[in-house]
Amino acid sequence: MKPSRYRQHAVSCLLLATTLAATVCTATGQTPSPTTSAQDETASIRQHHLKRLHERLSVEPAVLESHCRYESEIATAPPLNRVALTFDDGPTTSGTAYILEVLKKYNIHATFFMVGEKASQYPELVAQVRAAGHDVVANHSWSHPNFHDIDVARQTGEVLRADSLTTPDLPKLFRYPYGNSTCETNQLVHQHGYQIVGWHVDSCDWAFDKTGAIDTREAISCGVPRQYQNDYVGHVLAAVRSRRGGIILMHEIHPNTLKKLDTIVASLLAGGFEFGMVTDKDFQPSLR
Ligand SMILES: [Zn+2]
Repeated sequence: MKPSRYRQHAVSCLLLATTLAATVCTATGQTPSPTTSAQDETASIRQHHLKRLHERLSVEPAVLESHCRYESEIATAPPLNRVALTFDDGPTTSGTAYILEVLKKYNIHATFFMVGEKASQYPELVAQVRAAGHDVVANHSWSHPNFHDIDVARQTGEVLRADSLTTPDLPKLFRYPYGNSTCETNQLVHQHGYQIVGWHVDSCDWAFDKTGAIDTREAISCGVPRQYQNDYVGHVLAAVRSRRGGIILMHEIHPNTLKKLDTIVASLLAGGFEFGMVTDKDFQPSLR
């Protein structure tokens, strides 16, 4: 589809979605389908992220802004040379404990944006994160839907059903699945005392495949320069250097993050970056 036609298509999808909230429109015209296996989950997540990136590039910024869309990509500068790790979509039997081990090795902490449904299956993993010290368990919705595809009542249910993930006496943090914000849920989470956390740096771990490569089309969408198309670590380090720090988006369910986390942390420390938490005072201006 030519860009001009795609722009029209995307705008009409967006406008339609305001009156018919369950409308699903993707950049390719295909609807991401519900999945069961981990492999299908990864494929579905990739589709939703690509949809986000295509719509971001194709719809007029003023239209997006009026619908509170894509506010998760933080435009303002982070605290200089400070980074904060965030891990989404857990807890997982394959990832949570290992990530905690790496964090402990370097004496750093992170925020885990958990999916309520998974947390209810693995309460022991949630407890491990809480017991690790300063690591924060945060709300990433109950079942990880695309909030642009569901009506306001379901958005509300997704947030409130996962509210018990938050820890008493710690800040309440919410992150939209796929970063897909809406005006109605912005208002809801603020009413319930949450701050919304986006990211300065998308690791694009959802787009790099298990061989550590990313295909050219997805690399362009995700802003991965050609020289890093076979180099997940190189991409993350370059992106952090380019933003001079920031909140980093990673996912527990993607193998590159698990395989390369130790290397990334060690490299960032060697590069002079200091690890903090999104809850630190100097990251406050980055939250909404
Ligand atoms: Zn997610």
